[in-house]
Amino acid sequence: FGIHDALKTLGVQNINEGTSTGSNQFSHNDDGVVIESFSPVDGQLIGKVKTTSQADFDVVMQTATTAFKTWRTMPAPQRGEIVRQFGDKLREKKEALGKLVSYEMGKSYQEGLGEVQEMIDICDFAVGLSRQLHGLTMHSERPGHRMYEQYHALGVVGIISAFNFPVAVWAWNTALAWICGDVCVWKPSEKTPLCGIACQNIAAEVFAKNNLPEGISCLINGDYKVGEFMTKDKRIPLISATGSTRMGKIVAQEVAGRLGKTLLELGGNNAIIVTPDADIKMTVIGAVFGAVGTCGQRCTSTRRLIIHEDIYDKVKTAIVDAYKQLRIGNPLDENNHVGPLIDTDAVNMYNSALEKVVEEGGEIIVEGGVLSGVGFESGCYVKPAIAEAKPNFKIVQHETFAPVLYLLKYSGDVENAIDIQNEVAQGLSSAIMTNNLREAERFLSVQGSDCGIANVNIGTSGAEIGGAFGGEKDTGGGRESGSDAWKVYMRRQTNTINYTTELPLSQGIKFEL
Ligand code: NAD
Repeated sequence: FGIHDALKTLGVQNINEGTSTGSNQFSHNDDGVVIESFSPVDGQLIGKVKTTSQADFDVVMQTATTAFKTWRTMPAPQRGEIVRQFGDKLREKKEALGKLVSYEMGKSYQEGLGEVQEMIDICDFAVGLSRQLHGLTMHSERPGHRMYEQYHALGVVGIISAFNFPVAVWAWNTALAWICGDVCVWKPSEKTPLCGIACQNIAAEVFAKNNLPEGISCLINGDYKVGEFMTKDKRIPLISATGSTRMGKIVAQEVAGRLGKTLLELGGNNAIIVTPDADIKMTVIGAVFGAVGTCGQRCTSTRRLIIHEDIYDKVKTAIVDAYKQLRIGNPLDENNHVGPLIDTDAVNMYNSALEKVVEEGGEIIVEGGVLSGVGFESGCYVKPAIAEAKPNFKIVQHETFAPVLYLLKYSGDVENAIDIQNEVAQGLSSAIMTNNLREAERFLSVQGSDCGIANVNIGTSGAEIGGAFGGEKDTGGGRESGSDAWKVYMRRQTNTINYTTELPLSQGIKFEL
């Protein structure tokens, strides 16, 4: 079962219409702009996608707003049934989609399958949730009155996603938005457009089979300019955007300017604190997977290890030894641990980070470098590197989206390590490795980690869909996936009903006529 079979199974062609309202795929882009998708695995052209023009976008928006009027009236558990069928379709196509994710994005096949599994899991979660969109009831201060809160569908949800989770992030948003009664317009990353086409085809099949109208799931394609069609459009009450902090700041301002809502999932600069009470074996596994998994291109990748001085040398030696065993190569071959970066721009950023850490006085203890020769023709394969650095280095404060790990030393109490950890602008994921209850609880307390995710004796990377996912500060403050993250996809309404023949006013106000 090769990549060509996978593309066939997923209905991905050599040249694809990049705009879709469901089974209706079209393009009116008169300038004929296409995105060419090259695999970072072997540098081969996989396919082309026509980008979305303003005229295409207008058709999408008209279709989506019309579909919303029908979809929102369908009972939520019935919408859940559609999402259940969508999850089943994903189960059928799991291998094919996992393979495309791996080939187009460059993560390992296992991680590609894992991403599709996350999509399936969020569908299951959403099905249950479709019977639990609970509001509260409260006691009115007025006699013979009843008060309660309910949640209604919001409208068209705009989803902008990053290249590194080319399919799961869309599913996290769309599965919840659908059961909430919303319709979705998705702009995937211009670096992984074929994953977008494949997902849209799967969704379209399910909606068509159930005789549901076009427009519940829509796809648009292109770079930030196409993203701007959505951020500027007042008909989209919520924009859920995943990507860099730079992008998030622009999107947040644009959407706030029209008083729309945003759900932002932005960059991280995640650290593991390693205290003298840490289990070193567990620390090494968590840190190495966190730093080199997905070639350091997870928003939750481990970028900083903050190690106590008493065990610093021991941890350093163990991690350097572990790096010697890493096998770099084709991510579709499961013997390899590390695949390629997404493209040569990312390789340049990786090189520049290594230069900067040295300029600032850091020391490289595991050499990096770009690999060439047979198997590395795409020019995107790099060696995971480790540098000893100081917490205040500019480059350490910055999110380098590549496998570069910084070792930082702390002394004294765990408070000092927590200070270092919280010193950066980002606030996504964090972890502490310790068997000391006081240290662990301190880390999780209000004086502890300032991140959206704080783990004990687990690394920073990866998350289960059951919990709300997201981070603070420059990570954008959004939460998606599990827990009560669904509420952002709905509008809240407070209702008061008077079942008497009197009309008492609140706060005891008298108004006599
Ligand atoms: P990116 O910011 O370059 O692009 C992300 C998406 O935003 C793309 O679809 C892009 O076309 C779009 N975009 C960019 N500028 C825009 C604008 N002005 N208006 C509208 N849309 C715009 O990010 P990337 O390189 O694809 O992804 C890597 C980044 O994403 C990292 O910083 C990573 O930490 C972050 N990320 C965060 C999470 C999270 O959940 N917090 C998850 C995955 C990735």
